[in-house]
Amino acid sequence: MTLRRILVLGTGGTIAGAGGSATGAGYRAGGLALDALVAHLGALGLAAELVPQEVARIGSQDIGFAEWRALHAACTAAMDDPAIDGIIITHGTDTAEETGLLLDLTLPTAKPVVLVGAMRPADAVGADGMRNFANAVKVASDPAAAGRGVMLVMGDAVLAARDARKAATSAIDAFRTFPRGPLARVTPASLDWFGPAHRLGEAARYPFPQELPRVAILTAGAGMDAQPVDALLGIGARGIVLAGMGQGNAPRTVLEALARAAASGVPVVRASRVDEGLVDRNVEVDDDALGLVAARALGPAKARMLLMVLVANGVTDAKAVQAAFDGG
Ligand code: GLU
Repeated sequence: MTLRRILVLGTGGTIAGAGGSATGAGYRAGGLALDALVAHLGALGLAAELVPQEVARIGSQDIGFAEWRALHAACTAAMDDPAIDGIIITHGTDTAEETGLLLDLTLPTAKPVVLVGAMRPADAVGADGMRNFANAVKVASDPAAAGRGVMLVMGDAVLAARDARKAATSAIDAFRTFPRGPLARVTPASLDWFGPAHRLGEAARYPFPQELPRVAILTAGAGMDAQPVDALLGIGARGIVLAGMGQGNAPRTVLEALARAAASGVPVVRASRVDEGLVDRNVEVDDDALGLVAARALGPAKARMLLMVLVANGVTDAKAVQAAFDGG
């Protein structure tokens, strides 16, 4: 059997982190060059040919439009290259959910795209990066992985990028997935999909933006006033995501200010500061009357990313924005 050829796009993060301390205290994310990482992993005898390409060597807290554009271009080229079977992106875990969603929205589903990270640096005792990477190779090499959108492989599970979020600051098992469960379980020896691919042959849902507009997250707190809404409009916010209480709630004066923002053409999406759950329309907040959008299953960070892509593509009308948040 010919080996599957996997493009490995490196961005940095803890999976490429080293600090010379076995406890992982005081390390530098992205300190290891991708070539060194891949050579190290090659020693595992993985049944795939890995083609490394370094995009960045940063902690993912510093990732932004330039790196996203470079990742998108590299993935697009690999989608069109018959010599490449799948794509792995090594990435810090802090913002893997944002990069994952952006690529999920803007890439076709022809070949598997797998983000992978680690919670412990490569030279720490009990490092999880090599195992996660071996699992990612297993997933990216599987023809049945295509047509599932962008995925995140962590903790022996395959999660849809749209559903995954980081829910623990330091635990190895740091990611949760909502509203769907994992797409598969994976180990270096096995890969079990829980259902058929649901996006087989899909084109990109949105063109990759020329630039990303300023969309702000406003976290609600008890006793707050509406001044932060005006401040955000004052710095030119083109969209606002409310990380609201409970089901995307906020004090009445804040909701009224957000309604004024929406009426002025700045779309407002209500998400929740609560870790998990749906924010539905017109339950406690009258979205129809206020002109607001309910984030449904997306948390604030991902709601911001989707809203940036929508605004960049000229989608600002509340009904159209809501349709995008409703879409699986
Ligand atoms: N903050 C760094 C990053 O997101 C390290 C955390 C990690 O990768 O788990 O790249």
